[in-house]
Amino acid sequence: MRKPCMAANWKMNKTTGETRAFLDEFIPLVQDVKNVDIVVAPPFTSIHAAAALLAGSHIRLSAQNLFHEEKGAYTGEISPAMLTDAGCSHVIIGHSERRQYFKETDEMLNRKVRIARKHALQVIFCIGESLEEREAGKTFEVLNREIGEGLKEVSPEGIIVAYEPIWAIGTGKTATTEQAQEAHYSIREKLAALYSNAAAQEIRILYGGSVTPDNIDALMRCADVDGALVGGASLKADSFSKIVKFNTDYKQ
Ligand code: PEP
Repeated sequence: MRKPCMAANWKMNKTTGETRAFLDEFIPLVQDVKNVDIVVAPPFTSIHAAAALLAGSHIRLSAQNLFHEEKGAYTGEISPAMLTDAGCSHVIIGHSERRQYFKETDEMLNRKVRIARKHALQVIFCIGESLEEREAGKTFEVLNREIGEGLKEVSPEGIIVAYEPIWAIGTGKTATTEQAQEAHYSIREKLAALYSNAAAQEIRILYGGSVTPDNIDALMRCADVDGALVGGASLKADSFSKIVKFNTDYKQ
């Protein structure tokens, strides 16, 4: 049975003070939740403050990005060793905003995934189609390419996939449960082809795109949805804690 995972992607939000205020409120709200992996991804500048507050808790710390080299003359970039040193166990790679605004290619993302795994960081690897691609009937082609290229020569351990249809991110438009299940099922098939059926059954596939406390239960009822990567609704402790405490009856 795959353990559900709920991950908060704060994007470019929260100062260190705001991070502390969130965690002071959030940690007690979820301290009894043992059957869900909880991951929080603050901006780089808040990682140190978050690590201090999360020490000894079961909440895991993630970065939102990293660079694909070990060290050197890469002004403004952050290495995998810096992330593990700062207390991160996870890193988000391939978010559509990175692909779109920072022109990160499949090849660059594959290098990021490989260096992250070399440093034993768990990778939340994001994939997803644009509205244009969906309307052109290219959804599965895009998902297959992003998985095939992004996870090339990467073993399945430590990989979490996040399916985030770009048209659903930050728009208030969630994929229907049918759309989500269909995409997750096809992603698992692709993972089975890339690795093995047994490995694909172990890999968690999170859904991302306007997840809220109101739609999480329906999404988690889908057989292949193993959790969520949450943007907007993860910025408030109360709403993210409600997502973390979804009705687990469906996943026992
Ligand atoms: C995200 O950015 O990963 C995301 C899913 O954002 P939102 O929940 O705001 O749609």
